[in-house]
Amino acid sequence: MSEQADPLYRRERLFIGGEWLPSSAPGSIAVISPFTEELVGQAPRTAFVDVDAAVGAARRALTDSPWASWDVESRAAALDRLADALERRAADTARLVTAENGMPISVSGAVEGPGPARTLRYFAQLARTVPQEERRPAASGSGTTVVRREPVGVVAVVVPWNFPQSLTMFKVAAALAAGCTVVVKPAPETVLDAFQLADAAQEAGLPGGVVNIVTGGADIGAHLVGHPGVDKVAFTGSTEAGRAIGEVCGRLLRPVTLELGGKSAAIVLDDADLATAVRGLAWACLLNSGQTCYTSSRILAPRGRYTAVVEAIADLAGSMRIGDPADPATRVGPLVSARQRDRVESYIAAGRADGARVVTGGGRPADFERGWFVEPTVLADLDNSATVAREEIFGPVLAVIPYDDLDQAVAIANDSPYGLAGTVWTSDEDKGLEIARRMRTGTVGVNYYNLDLGAPFGGVKASGLGRELGPEGLSAYVEYKSVYLRK
Ligand code: NAD
Repeated sequence: MSEQADPLYRRERLFIGGEWLPSSAPGSIAVISPFTEELVGQAPRTAFVDVDAAVGAARRALTDSPWASWDVESRAAALDRLADALERRAADTARLVTAENGMPISVSGAVEGPGPARTLRYFAQLARTVPQEERRPAASGSGTTVVRREPVGVVAVVVPWNFPQSLTMFKVAAALAAGCTVVVKPAPETVLDAFQLADAAQEAGLPGGVVNIVTGGADIGAHLVGHPGVDKVAFTGSTEAGRAIGEVCGRLLRPVTLELGGKSAAIVLDDADLATAVRGLAWACLLNSGQTCYTSSRILAPRGRYTAVVEAIADLAGSMRIGDPADPATRVGPLVSARQRDRVESYIAAGRADGARVVTGGGRPADFERGWFVEPTVLADLDNSATVAREEIFGPVLAVIPYDDLDQAVAIANDSPYGLAGTVWTSDEDKGLEIARRMRTGTVGVNYYNLDLGAPFGGVKASGLGRELGPEGLSAYVEYKSVYLRK
């Protein structure tokens, strides 16, 4: 079936209160292929009144639906059914994401297709093991305190386009496991794949209003975030939008989790085996054509091995196959939009203006007449004060920076407005762990970088507030209540 004839690519209605409702807004959101620059699909726009209806449905589901009275096991079983329903759709979901944002299918097929079901199963299991109530002897003397974990309420989930499925489910799975209800607003660039969750929620028999989907851009997102019927906001996106959302939530005293940008460092130690490190760096630095928040886009190399590291990284970047993101052999696809390509190109120009040497890449690949491609680009002979070393580029551009000793390497890594992730490359894992302990960042990988669903993920400084995943990620959707008993 051609994309245009496939109903997954032509959504006509919004999913609110368990029903497919017509939108109150005229027109539709057009999704344009980053590869062909042609229309791949469309979805309805959302009006503010539709957001109000979605929040209302989520509120009712919280108090007046079977969801409100289900015990933990019933809820966990529903999450497992939702996981099954999403798993049945995984191949379609991966294809949708690739069509929308240009993610190589080798990545979307491994991450975006099967990932949401894995996350749901993890949180379903976690919910079964975390007690809803604990009785504690009062620390102050006689009496007992019952500590209850109650759902925080209606959660506004606002997500970006780069890993739309994974980032949505990091929030939705934890929120549902805690007993919350959600209103999800995907990015307009990846609005289509969000409806997979609606289809799956229906198939899994989730009560109406537990999951609601609204569409649109920053204005709809802002209306949702500040809505009086919302109890908590979970956001992933740019630091700029995160600050705006944080300000609103601060004024409203509304709990908020912010997963924002990054400018992470890969520290290559003197003893690193370069062949191994470079293979790992391909994943850690250029995943999804560099449009990954935790990418290690600053590579710190010991001065004595600087030339060898620059050459090895440049060889790797220069050899990555660029092309049709739907081709399983493609390693680098187009960037999500013409705007994103312009932004990345302006950073390469800024690197040149700061005196950086372009070792490989630096422009658009010659073989494509269409598609928002930028070649994987390695910039050398620059220091950590260069614009390309300080600001998030969100594209396939790496800066290789020399260091003289380990203290300096750690200082450079920490000299950033951001603190989301990082990696250390060494033949001595203990030494790697020692360096990781000194890095001021939310996550660090030693000789690889792999998100663990069972461990907290998030950033410090301008990379955000709060954590997702792991038991800590579940706590973010819980309000604690203490009930003091005399006996
Ligand atoms: P963006 O911040 O422009 O948009 C993200 C989402 O927020 C979209 O759905 C958008 O419509 C909405 N939005 C924008 N402004 C809003 C506002 N004021 N109020 C409410 N909603 C608003 O980000 P983007 O360009 O789509 O995504 C790229 C950014 O996301 C990068 O900076 C990247 O680092 C970051 N990111 C962070 C993580 C993480 O976990 N830390 C993961 C992926 C992406």
